[in-house]
Amino acid sequence: MKIFKLISLREYSLFFWIILISILGILTSTIYSKNKDDQLEKIESTLENIYLKKILKEITENLEPRFTIINYKTTTGDTYQSIINNLEINKKEKKLLLDTILKNKSLKILKVNQKFIFKFDNLLDQKVIEFRIEKDKKNEIIFKKDLTSNTFVSREIEKNFEKKLVYKETIITNSLYNSALNLGIKPNIIIEFARLYGFQVDFQRDIWKNDSFQIIYEEFINENNKVVDTGEIIFANLKLQNIDLQLYKYEYKKNKIDYFDENGKSIRKTLMKTPINGARLSSSYGKRKHPILGYTKMHTGTDFAAPMGTPIMASGDGKVTKAGWCGGGGNCVKIRHNSTYQTVYAHMSKFGRGIKKGSRVKQGQIIGYVGSTGLSTGPHLHYEVIENGRKINSQKLKLPSGKILKGKDRKEFEVSKIKIDVLKSNLISKLN
Ligand SMILES: [Zn+2]
Repeated sequence: MKIFKLISLREYSLFFWIILISILGILTSTIYSKNKDDQLEKIESTLENIYLKKILKEITENLEPRFTIINYKTTTGDTYQSIINNLEINKKEKKLLLDTILKNKSLKILKVNQKFIFKFDNLLDQKVIEFRIEKDKKNEIIFKKDLTSNTFVSREIEKNFEKKLVYKETIITNSLYNSALNLGIKPNIIIEFARLYGFQVDFQRDIWKNDSFQIIYEEFINENNKVVDTGEIIFANLKLQNIDLQLYKYEYKKNKIDYFDENGKSIRKTLMKTPINGARLSSSYGKRKHPILGYTKMHTGTDFAAPMGTPIMASGDGKVTKAGWCGGGGNCVKIRHNSTYQTVYAHMSKFGRGIKKGSRVKQGQIIGYVGSTGLSTGPHLHYEVIENGRKINSQKLKLPSGKILKGKDRKEFEVSKIKIDVLKSNLISKLN
């Protein structure tokens, strides 16, 4: 992976999109591939190697909701051009949308009260991944983005196709993807599932035999009872070593969709800048004269002075990879959060309850207490953030620690969560 360090950020981002587009190309072909082994191998290599790892940084810097839906009803004086011009997308994308619509012969005349629905994926550069235009009361034209060719594929559909909610659960026997494919879950749903969990789980290392998952997602069925399309994931639970990682789809505000855990916390949470309360930043990242060793040395972390015994929190969800003696670092804890980030906490007086190598922790959980063990002049926490194997300045991270639903949003989320839980019970009862 050294090659990534040699190229500039701009080139990196271009390189990233090229990779992403080619991967989506591969994925599209897997969907049509009848060979399951082939499919599996492609999904695995895609998710485990490049996709999640490289997209994670891009996603974490994006505070917008993942998906946005824009509904529009035409009024007198509207043109296709004026409708598209009002979308918050770049010029190139506007042109693509307009050209796509104008090419469609059945959409020659724009009528008043005609409905438009645009679906944005805010993680993408060209955001519109799907849009629908109502032709008349019974028919609509759906345009889906083919990311390989950067064009839209259109299909006229009758509005009366049926949306079905599907529940699947299984114990993971060898790999997550294999188990999911065996259940008949479509590859695009599996990829979405892995993408949603990418903040909390390192798919290369954290899935063990006998872990399990549950999922509810939408399928669209035509009159011949054939699945014509898959929709969105409504609920999922990935159970890793008996810890439930649940996610609920929730539409907060109007048409803003994202995923939250059972406590109303966005699953797109990453790392806290200060994993300790009431502390004072006493030494920042960078070159400094070491207080004990006496010579100038790179300080690869951030120090927070705090009274002996102050609780230290896990700055993100993850798995403890070390809880023991680290020499100069004294008693230290190391956590792997996902395939990109790790954090280190040093000089602790003691460890938090149940904190040992291999245990899973949630953001904010107490992992230890401030001390002065190892090479230390007084009680403080030495905190390090490691990004793709390299120590970085935690205070300069542009990472959101995750949106938490509050007030009215929280109340509405609770209602929506209960509805999903009831739906889940119903779907499970139908299995038996
Ligand atoms: Zn330090």
